[in-house]
Amino acid sequence: MSSFDMELGYHDAILRKTLVQLREAEDSKKGVVAACLFTPYVGKAYAFSDIREDDRNNHAERNALDHHLALFGQPTSHSVMITSLSPCKKDDPKRYGVSCTDMLLGNDPMHPDIVIPNVHVGYIDPWQPTLEEYLSWGFKLTVTRDHDIAEACRRLFDYFLPENYRKVPIPDFVNEALRDF
Ligand SMILES: [Zn+2]
Repeated sequence: MSSFDMELGYHDAILRKTLVQLREAEDSKKGVVAACLFTPYVGKAYAFSDIREDDRNNHAERNALDHHLALFGQPTSHSVMITSLSPCKKDDPKRYGVSCTDMLLGNDPMHPDIVIPNVHVGYIDPWQPTLEEYLSWGFKLTVTRDHDIAEACRRLFDYFLPENYRKVPIPDFVNEALRDF
């Protein structure tokens, strides 16, 4: 097995644990995107998306970075953002802060000195950039090869479809999507 395959397997193991953390979270803490900012030999900061009191969405990647800063301090060049859904890029007035893509590329006025090019995802959001676009911007982005993880992450994404979005309770939706984890 190549070192690339071993690393991918390890990142998938963390992604699986991230989904378990989401399933086991209190219902009031559940979001539909889960992320973990992992820094080798330092630690793992798990977080989920949430809706703030002003009705804006705080994305899982931003919450994971904030959590990492609180627990372990700054990420390093070896840190990996592991997330159930590929990082957003489009403008979104409902989102707190710049896009997760811009945040990870060092274009966040709140975190101008943080760049996290290593990203591992469970599902590529069909409404956001393609894998080729992420790579062209300098991301080292990988996608899970684990069928069960990919399926669960796609089921979580389905919350954003018009028939589900803000129509079904998030905890019920998440628990059903992650029923096998
Ligand atoms: Zn985002």
